[in-house]
Amino acid sequence: MPFRHYYYCESCDGTWLVEAEVAVEGDCPFCAARDVFPYRSDEPARLADDAARIARRLAAALRKAVAKPAPVPAESRRLKRAASR
Ligand SMILES: [Zn+2]
Repeated sequence: MPFRHYYYCESCDGTWLVEAEVAVEGDCPFCAARDVFPYRSDEPARLADDAARIARRLAAALRKAVAKPAPVPAESRRLKRAASR
């Protein structure tokens, strides 16, 4: 899994993201400034951890949503009973 490198161009205030195994200086895609270094690099292990945690949280939220259907408000239940009479 490649590292994620964040670039910031001082010439035009542009920011962009590159996924690569190693940090290399890049050319600004906005103003073509050369030799811009990443100001930050994320490790692939941490990204994987984040993804797993988000997936677990999503799965838990979905399970809860399935197990507990939204309660029907008492008023709408009364209205339905009145209508069927
Ligand atoms: Zn630029």
